[in-house]
Amino acid sequence: MKKGSGLDGAQAAVSFMEESGSFNCGRGACLTAEGKVELDGAVMWGKGLAGAGVGSVTCTYSPVSLARWVMENTEHVLIGGERCADYARLAGMRIENVQPSKSSWAKFLVLKKEKSHAKALEMVRKLNMGETVGAVAVGSDGIPAAAVSTGGRWLKLPGRVGDSAILGAGIFADSRTGAACATGTGEEIIKCALSFKACEYMRETSGPEAARKAVGFVTKTRGRDTAGIITIDIRGRVGASFNTEAMGRAWYDQGKGRAVAKIR
Ligand code: ASP
Repeated sequence: MKKGSGLDGAQAAVSFMEESGSFNCGRGACLTAEGKVELDGAVMWGKGLAGAGVGSVTCTYSPVSLARWVMENTEHVLIGGERCADYARLAGMRIENVQPSKSSWAKFLVLKKEKSHAKALEMVRKLNMGETVGAVAVGSDGIPAAAVSTGGRWLKLPGRVGDSAILGAGIFADSRTGAACATGTGEEIIKCALSFKACEYMRETSGPEAARKAVGFVTKTRGRDTAGIITIDIRGRVGASFNTEAMGRAWYDQGKGRAVAKIR
């Protein structure tokens, strides 16, 4: 970022996507097996490994803002469930009774028509219904940061918390290396500590190469169609890699002097 902190930048990008209703997060989140919205999110700032996540949030469409508050106002790195509302109140956030969007509800009804839960999950896989959102940035102070937000996985068990709430899994930032943010099957991403791994690779290599290596690792150990990752190293070199068919991504290309977006 030319001006300001990487954390403010990454959080602003994610908040915008939470509000848009166009992704699997915030107002557009996917639904649990019971047809409800439960959101996860996290922020991390490379300086001193500051960060926090929130899981299974039902009181705000912006878990990323709540995570930022937890990071700055408590000594904890993970808060979950109904009591999140107490902290959202303390944070001065508006308490909302989060509800499925029209389009998420319509998708849910289609999935519910499948003969079994297994068949419905197969359909989720086929349609590539992911779209967790995340952002990584290096601030004008040279400190990397990451932010992430998601509704999790379609038809997840109520109470399930995924990688996007967990530092090291869905998100990581370290001022010695860079920042990373993952998407995909949360359970596999957690088992691989994928974002931490990508940042560790950045000790010896660039952001783009670290993303490739991290996805290489998850593909080898957990199989294809499991994950994607975005990275930025402290020199500002951005990377993105995935073992799924597609992963929407966009970045500012300094050489071209404009933003670039890609899906495949
Ligand atoms: N990683 C998210 C989760 O498992 C889902 C996704 O990225 O689409 O909660």
